[in-house]
Amino acid sequence: MENRRVRLRFAPSPTGGLHMGGIRTALFSYLFAKKHGGDFILRIEDTDQTRYVNGAEEYIINSLKWCGIEPNEGVGFGDGPYAPYRQSERKELGIYAKYAKQLIDSGHAYYAFDTSEELDAMRKRLEAAKVAAPQYNSVSRQNMRNSLTLSEDEVKKLLAENTPHVIRLKVPRNEEVRFHDIIRGWIVVNSTQVDDKVLLKSDGMPTYHLAHIVDDIEMEVSHAVRGEEWLPSAPSHILIYKYLGLEEKMPLLAHLPLILKTDGNGKLSKRDKSGIPMFPLNWHDERTGESYVGYRESGFFPEAFINMLALLGWNPGTTQEIFSLEELVQAFSFERVNKSGAKFDPEKTKWFNQQYLRMKSDKELAELFFPILKDKNIVAEQKFVEEVCRLVKEKAHFVSEFWVGGSYFFIAPTTFDADVIKKRWNEQTANFIKTVTETFKGLNTFTALETEAAFKATAEAQGIGAGQVMQLFRVCLSGVGGGPMLFEMVELLGKDEVVKRLETAASYLNPFSNGEGVKPS
Ligand code: GLU
Repeated sequence: MENRRVRLRFAPSPTGGLHMGGIRTALFSYLFAKKHGGDFILRIEDTDQTRYVNGAEEYIINSLKWCGIEPNEGVGFGDGPYAPYRQSERKELGIYAKYAKQLIDSGHAYYAFDTSEELDAMRKRLEAAKVAAPQYNSVSRQNMRNSLTLSEDEVKKLLAENTPHVIRLKVPRNEEVRFHDIIRGWIVVNSTQVDDKVLLKSDGMPTYHLAHIVDDIEMEVSHAVRGEEWLPSAPSHILIYKYLGLEEKMPLLAHLPLILKTDGNGKLSKRDKSGIPMFPLNWHDERTGESYVGYRESGFFPEAFINMLALLGWNPGTTQEIFSLEELVQAFSFERVNKSGAKFDPEKTKWFNQQYLRMKSDKELAELFFPILKDKNIVAEQKFVEEVCRLVKEKAHFVSEFWVGGSYFFIAPTTFDADVIKKRWNEQTANFIKTVTETFKGLNTFTALETEAAFKATAEAQGIGAGQVMQLFRVCLSGVGGGPMLFEMVELLGKDEVVKRLETAASYLNPFSNGEGVKPS
């Protein structure tokens, strides 16, 4: 094991959209592989043709690309020395049948000819006998039609006649199966709890259990990282390696903790209603007709998504929360992955996006904002849009919020916050607005500093506290009571626009009716 090259595979089944739990598995594998200068492989586990979903494979590839965690080997990424990387194609190599035969020959697997009716009848029998977990195992197989109960001649005959059959693993009774998981430590399971898993199906396709082992061996995988839901089948896998005499080739195992709902009650569902996506990209399932929104389409940055995911179950051992992908590679280890479930936090997820949004330059943000402006038929100068981004980004989690919070930079308001007007608009303040408009007209330079000074001086001269008119002034300019730094906004709008807006607001709001406020037009 010591000298093995580090090779990790991400091995999804194309049975649907890859949700964020799947991406986390890929991410942890990627981080470990990169940290140790190893390979990160994408293998498509498509042996269950009945569950194959069109578009799922492409979705997996596009998701990994968007997240920036690209395999250096595998389907969609230029293949590599162990091609093909799709199990349906690997079947043609005859490898699965070869290993299955090896297990048969060494007496660790057997043919089973039971029909689905016979299997159903078995289950019912066991249920009636109050067996807690009815399964095909070392006890129940004795009453079934398989090469352990039938005579050799009969088995030969059935095989010669191409009678539908599967190959099952022959799990011993009452033996200890011990294995090590890098995250969980040593695990011991009694083989009585382990069923005789099907290895090769009647259509000649391997099941996941056999196929992934054969491929991990053939592809020289050093570490197999997967979700906790696979832990119960690990004992069967250990036995298969043992019976093949390939224990040394077995990858080190790491079963990742579950991702839990926000309240910690149960596994996070792909139908979660927190308003935060569960899928990296939009996903439409043709079979069920269900659609799911993606992180990408909801305005999340891939870096924020990845950063958030990395901390779902892993911790750096410090208080650092913001990590670039490169920093994650450096900091990552399986020792710091928790055994217990990781709670998903929708608010924190948005917070991560906000941190990355703040880290972007105004130019980058403007590039992202332009399509939104175009959609609204707004034509604006690059520099102006960059400045708007600079002002509105402080309060936003997403670029899409720039429009909601800053449309007035591009379109003069026609409605004014009724509550503020009702509270603040009166003869005295209306007068102030008029005077300040005149004062502004006389300014030669129109910076935040100067306009603020002029504003305050005017208020003082009129005996009005700046606080009394500040918000009203803002509403006259933008229509809304909150927003970015007021005089920065004034500077950006510029003298002509500010004067025009103040005059328009004054004409809209007059004649004022004290106490009742003025209805926004
Ligand atoms: N094909 C399995 C899945 O869809 C892979 C499990 C593993 O990594 O061994 O999750």
